[in-house]
Amino acid sequence: MKFSTDGLVLKSADVGESDRIITVLTKDYGVVRAFSNGAKKLRNSKQSATQPLCYSHFTFYQSRDSYVVDDARSIETFFRLRDDIEKLSLAQYFCELAGELAPEMENSQEYLSLVLNCLYMLVNEKRPQKFLKAVIELRMLTLAGYMPSLGVCSACGKEPEGDSFFDIASSSVYCPSCKPSGEKITKGILNAMRHICTAPAEKLFSFELAPSSLDRLSLLSERYLLSQSRGNYKALDFYNKLFRE
Ligand SMILES: [Zn+2]
Repeated sequence: MKFSTDGLVLKSADVGESDRIITVLTKDYGVVRAFSNGAKKLRNSKQSATQPLCYSHFTFYQSRDSYVVDDARSIETFFRLRDDIEKLSLAQYFCELAGELAPEMENSQEYLSLVLNCLYMLVNEKRPQKFLKAVIELRMLTLAGYMPSLGVCSACGKEPEGDSFFDIASSSVYCPSCKPSGEKITKGILNAMRHICTAPAEKLFSFELAPSSLDRLSLLSERYLLSQSRGNYKALDFYNKLFRE
């Protein structure tokens, strides 16, 4: 059985002398792991189309209990990211998130668009890195069913007037009179978090935050992500070690 779809190569690992196993976030079938036979040695279009950070049109076939790349043609490559270790490690973290949170054998168009848009904005510096990192973390958690409860105060049911408190453990927001502890956030940060979780896809990147608020948002979204997802985010560790001041 053959099937075709577009997908972004999230990672690749060598198998034996000349084969690779690649992990692809596909539009129609979610995360697919497939063997790419001879991909290492052949200097052909398939070789480049099956490398990490390449968005390609794939045809897979099923062989016993595994998938094999029948053909791959690149549509768009984000190889320019390789010239900048900071951007590259963040891009690899985006790929780790997708590999961890996107489903298998299910339509994953929204996940794919999210990652492709973030990579495009990262490589072209359309938004600050912390902005993109917070957007992809909170939005992907939302897609995966981990959206925090960011409406009214979870205790009294009122809209917080000014600052509020984001409680990571309960994924909820509280007003100052109900919960004077936890992570204090400004109205601007709360509204940015609400926007990231609920905005239509075409407006997702249309908001602004002051740099100091962006620092705070990025820190909180990462802590929230790590509280909800048990993934092993090596690229995030690397990025934080080298580039978080
Ligand atoms: Zn309250």
